[in-house]
Amino acid sequence: MANENTVQEAEEAPLEHADVEVELEQGAPPVEELDPETRARRDAALARVRKLGDPVLRASAVPVERFDDVLGSEIDRMGELMHDALGVGLAATQLGVLHRVLVYRVDPEEPVTALVNPELEWTSEEVEVAEEGCLSLPGVHVEVERPARVRVRARDRAGDELEIEAEGLRARVIQHEIDHLDGILILDRISREARKEAMRAMRESREAGEP
Ligand code: ZN
Repeated sequence: MANENTVQEAEEAPLEHADVEVELEQGAPPVEELDPETRARRDAALARVRKLGDPVLRASAVPVERFDDVLGSEIDRMGELMHDALGVGLAATQLGVLHRVLVYRVDPEEPVTALVNPELEWTSEEVEVAEEGCLSLPGVHVEVERPARVRVRARDRAGDELEIEAEGLRARVIQHEIDHLDGILILDRISREARKEAMRAMRESREAGEP
């Protein structure tokens, strides 16, 4: 079934424009190409991610006030889970923790970046359209329009201030994860028709036994 799904998706989503072709969060090779161990780890990680229908995904997360070991281990856990799930970003909300914390790693060579209490300080007027997926929406890949560049103010795990300027995939991941902290999903950023199509893809993915 997973095979059929993949083929179908490939046919349905020809990207004609020059935008980066990425699958946010699920930026991994096709599932059927994973070795059994990696796949088992991914499935176990995905099983711990809250899925559409869980009310926590619609809640607004609250700012972190204490920068202590508890926060540190929460961030480490998020980074590990994101890694195991083969994702490029994860918001605490997706694990049922309503803290304004997100992690991302766009390039496998770089360390995981954690943003605590992130605020979009500036977004470009220029927008880009690219395909996104979401660990909370298995099987869904939709084209989402977002500002191409952003400037974000946040704190790191120690509570020190960070200012990050990002573009391309990095800017997209940060915006996607900040959306999670506000209870917003990619389904809210697409047309009604695209949403219907996405819901169908998610149903099919569930029926195919994806975690
Ligand atoms: Zn997501």
